[in-house]
Amino acid sequence: MKKLLIISGVLIEPGQVREIHLPISETPNARSTILPITVVRGVEEGPCIFLTAAVHGDELNGIAILKSLMIKIKPEKLRGALIIVPIVNMLGFLGESRYLSDRRDLNRMFPGTPTGNMAQRIAYKFFHEVIRHADAGIDFHTGAENRENFPHVRGDLKNIQVRKYAKAFGCRIIIDQKGLKGTLRYAATERKIPTIVFEGGTANTFQRPIVQTGVRGTIRFLRNLGMLREKRRFSRKRSLPFQIVAKKALWVRADRGGLLELKVHPGELLYRGDPVAIISNPLGRDVHGISAPMTGLVIGVTTSPLVSPGMPIVHMVEINRTLKTIEKHLKNRKLTLAFPNHIG
Ligand SMILES: [Zn+2]
Repeated sequence: MKKLLIISGVLIEPGQVREIHLPISETPNARSTILPITVVRGVEEGPCIFLTAAVHGDELNGIAILKSLMIKIKPEKLRGALIIVPIVNMLGFLGESRYLSDRRDLNRMFPGTPTGNMAQRIAYKFFHEVIRHADAGIDFHTGAENRENFPHVRGDLKNIQVRKYAKAFGCRIIIDQKGLKGTLRYAATERKIPTIVFEGGTANTFQRPIVQTGVRGTIRFLRNLGMLREKRRFSRKRSLPFQIVAKKALWVRADRGGLLELKVHPGELLYRGDPVAIISNPLGRDVHGISAPMTGLVIGVTTSPLVSPGMPIVHMVEINRTLKTIEKHLKNRKLTLAFPNHIG
């Protein structure tokens, strides 16, 4: 981290917590749109990490995760600094929408351009005034509307730092994917700010188990980076939690329209050929079964009961070599959410 940490003209000194109000855009009533940012700077020097949520304005779990971390983490216990932005897409958040008010996806615009469209300008300002101060980051997401995700971490594991951070977070499932161009994690990682994404739950709601998983994961991440001290009784014998790294993910899709009856849950292990769902007509006839195309874990499902051909129903990651190990760790064929006690 640089010795001088100045964001939007505000100097944050060692041992300080500062609230910054960054003007990110302007609305037609000629008012500034303000992003509240909290910077917690430890007394001791160390890495500077950004924690961002609601880049998609309706994904609320991340906001609750960051709110909880802001209460828990005190500068006197921290080495380095945290730049915490609970609501990146303020315009989307206010409109209860995934997208900006111009209907663009902010998470396809990074690192942005200063002379581009509204979304590109917001992305540019945020990236250059906030993100570039950080050495690494975590961006918190949920499933989109009508999707429920099992909590997992995503990152480009070819990048050694990203690999280290993804594992440090401690989620059961890590998806190794480069990510889409224009996403915050892709743009930051490309510019030597290795970044991971936490995905969990669904949009438009706060889900306590997901929020707890995100909070615990972040604390574990910070301890692994030496930014927070370990609890003394756990510091010697710290075994890593069981983790699965998956590369191949695919959506099982409906191949006809009708009423959907889902047979699986997020976190469940499916063997190739297992029943996934049935689709029927409104009279309960013309029943059509859908089965798993491969052996793998369910990482996301649709929550919509009505489907048309091509609509995604179940998101799976393929499991092959690690199948035996996974079978040992399952309870009722399902992965548990909880972290082992020693990292709580
Ligand atoms: Zn998202």
